[in-house]
Amino acid sequence: MQYPDLSVDSDARPAGRIQRANSLAGDVYEAIFAQLMSLRIAPGSRITVDNLVREFNVSHTPIREALGRLEGEGLVLKTHLIGYRAAPQITRRRFDELYELRLLLEPAAAAKATAALDEARLAILREAAGVMARRVGKDERLRYSNFARQDAIFHDKIMEFAQNELIRETLSHQHTHFHIFRLMYHSRVTEEALDEHEAILAAFTAGDPRAAEKAMRVHLENSRDRLLPAFE
Ligand SMILES: [Zn+2]
Repeated sequence: MQYPDLSVDSDARPAGRIQRANSLAGDVYEAIFAQLMSLRIAPGSRITVDNLVREFNVSHTPIREALGRLEGEGLVLKTHLIGYRAAPQITRRRFDELYELRLLLEPAAAAKATAALDEARLAILREAAGVMARRVGKDERLRYSNFARQDAIFHDKIMEFAQNELIRETLSHQHTHFHIFRLMYHSRVTEEALDEHEAILAAFTAGDPRAAEKAMRVHLENSRDRLLPAFE
């Protein structure tokens, strides 16, 4: 006996499949995010909803939902009557300004956070540092985009524990990590950053604020130097 194919995308979805619909929206979001981060969707280029509908073989709803979420994260711009496009690459000037800002704020915050760390917070930072998830997963693009997100969380958590919400918000509103990782798509960017995260974690674990400040400064300077060739 032949059963009807329930996997076909249909508006008449049985109630039991709502859960699957939710994870479908999440999967579509992750897939577009990975394409943006790995430059498969080039910065500044147009994003056509119909093309994505065809590529992922889904309805318009999860695509629009994903694009709305990416717009909130500063990765996608929506222009009235024109539609969506990927946010343009940051300029060299903006890049310099971002790193100047980060170097002013983040090493000092790392030192300050050190004093506020207990075992529970250390565990959160260890998890967020992404070191344990290193080399997990075969999809290179997904790994890269996951690292970009993980890096944003790691740095944000340090700001949270440093307990200055104004500084934390200022940095978080820049969506720094999503912009800088789109400058270059290269495994070296993530591998070396993970080593530097380990150095920051070691200083936190030792409860050494000066070492944490220095490790953060080294990480930011190296990160800047790794990405600078993108402007050459
Ligand atoms: Zn980092």
